Amino acid sequence: TKETFDHIKENEDQVKAFITLNEDAAMKKAAEIDQQGINDDQLTAGIPLAVKDNILTKGLKTTAASKMLENFNPVYDATVVEKLNNNGFINVGKTNLDEFAMGSSTENSAFFTTHNPWDLTRVPGGSSGGSAAAVAAGDVLGALGTDTGGSIRMPASFNGIVGMKPTYGRVSRWGIIAFGSSFDQVGWLTRTVKDNALLTQMISGNDEHDMTSSMKEVPNWAAQLNDDTNVKGLRIAVPKEYFEGINDDVHEVIKNALDHLESFGAIIDEVSLPHTKYGVPAYYILASSEASSNLQRYDGIRYGFRAKDVKNIEDVYVRSRTEGFSEEVKRRIMLGTFSLSAGFYDAYFNKAAKVRRLIAQDFENVFKDHDVILGATGASTAFKIGAEIDDPQTMYMNDVLTVPVNMAGLPAMSVPAGFSSKNGMPVGLQIIGKPFDEQTVYNTAYVFE
Ligand code: GLN
Repeated sequence: TKETFDHIKENEDQVKAFITLNEDAAMKKAAEIDQQGINDDQLTAGIPLAVKDNILTKGLKTTAASKMLENFNPVYDATVVEKLNNNGFINVGKTNLDEFAMGSSTENSAFFTTHNPWDLTRVPGGSSGGSAAAVAAGDVLGALGTDTGGSIRMPASFNGIVGMKPTYGRVSRWGIIAFGSSFDQVGWLTRTVKDNALLTQMISGNDEHDMTSSMKEVPNWAAQLNDDTNVKGLRIAVPKEYFEGINDDVHEVIKNALDHLESFGAIIDEVSLPHTKYGVPAYYILASSEASSNLQRYDGIRYGFRAKDVKNIEDVYVRSRTEGFSEEVKRRIMLGTFSLSAGFYDAYFNKAAKVRRLIAQDFENVFKDHDVILGATGASTAFKIGAEIDDPQTMYMNDVLTVPVNMAGLPAMSVPAGFSSKNGMPVGLQIIGKPFDEQTVYNTAYVFE
């Protein structure tokens, strides 16, 4: 734990992965574990890990990278944190993100931008950019993230690490600051596939506090990760739409990754997911609609930021929200409120909900005779800080390959597949599985370990 903090202090000035460091409490807990000795049942006893700052930690500031929650101290732990505590983990600190997890670059944090450790002039991706950078910089072996439309996979891809978004319902959302509740899922960003499988198993399972969490048994995924023969005979689908509009350097790496899998006996088929191009517009309507509802609670009264010198109740609401939320969050609240309003509900929200169903059906059709779907995680490698931040539509298009997965609630991960021949930055391969079949996704990823 001490070495972890020494390491963080060496690079944190440049990388800026953390909003809050938990040094005193972490050192105290490490000392306690030293004294008591390690309990074999506790998988993460004494292991320093980091937590994205939209996941509640009792008594430790949780901001969602928003001015609205700048001084918010939760009174309870998220279920995932409680499970980690039961396993003796050391919480190193809370990592930076795009405000309320809305973004793809971590530039939307109300506090500061995180830098990509591979090239400090580039973004770490988002919204779990702080978690990804902390792992890539070698601070921690794993960091918790959340993924509503790609926020675990995309930063994993940009930072050359492993990121898994489990099946919707696999992990409890209790204590996660809600963004798009029918999309949100918690997961890990790690250095290795095996660590990811072990850690994901630990946080998975039914939770009485989250009625969308599944009753399904949680397998020991890591136990199956023994050799590369796991992919022999694996039926891999490669959607042609996933290669439209992706950069050549990314294409080249993905092509090599597919050849690599083929050399281990996997069978590769080209398929079509015809509604892919509607994913981004439909996602931004649906996720923003849910966000506009979820974010109503930040009213300047119940908790969080309150504007000064307010005149009346309406002034409290309007000014607290005007001053407490930044640009991107307000854009989503307006888009969502508009899509849900009586006059436009059918034209926007309802239509997007139907598109969501079609996208899910596309996946179901392909999964009838395939085990996994493969493609790139992002159409490009990590872009330069500042390059896209003033152009929301270009920023949203980064999610074209990741949002369809959340629309269908599928498990999907990004594994490092190689480096761009153009700029030397890491490229991630996305592996999408059938609902609750994380095992096949991990097996496929393990070939690249
Ligand atoms: N980039 C997407 C968005 O801005 C996804 C974010 C996420 O997965 N939390 O909504």
